Amino acid sequence: MAILNIVKEGDPVLRKTSREVTEITPRIIRLLDDMKETLADAQGCGLAAVQVGVLRRVVLVDTEETGLLELINPKIIAYTGTQEETEGCLSVPGVWGITRRPKSVTVKALNRNGEEFTVTGTDLAARAFCHELDHLDGTLFIDKMIEKLDPADFE
Ligand code: ZN
Repeated sequence: MAILNIVKEGDPVLRKTSREVTEITPRIIRLLDDMKETLADAQGCGLAAVQVGVLRRVVLVDTEETGLLELINPKIIAYTGTQEETEGCLSVPGVWGITRRPKSVTVKALNRNGEEFTVTGTDLAARAFCHELDHLDGTLFIDKMIEKLDPADFE
């Protein structure tokens, strides 16, 4: 495994649309393993493949509610409620802000064995699902930020 470089805002790759995974190859498995190590090192609660420069629909979400999840070709299939809470992004260091997201989100995805599963997350997990899936379509949380917070509160 390897810790990969996290691409920062301003790099045009973050604005590109990621492609579906059509076959779970050893390269995809390696990507998942490297992303896990990278996410653990960065101490984030989610990471999309595009953030390590790979335009494939692969994300990790790691929250207390969900544990560490590997999601291949994830899609939001249901959501309810709204929340306005704090978000940040490993690709946008030093910026935190409030976004409006669903309170609860259900995602369908494939695991590394190619098996379909669904998972529901609320609060932080719901925000993480929305945030990471947005990355797959070139959207950053700063595009949706309704209020920017003082970074001094997060140091
Ligand atoms: Zn992000």
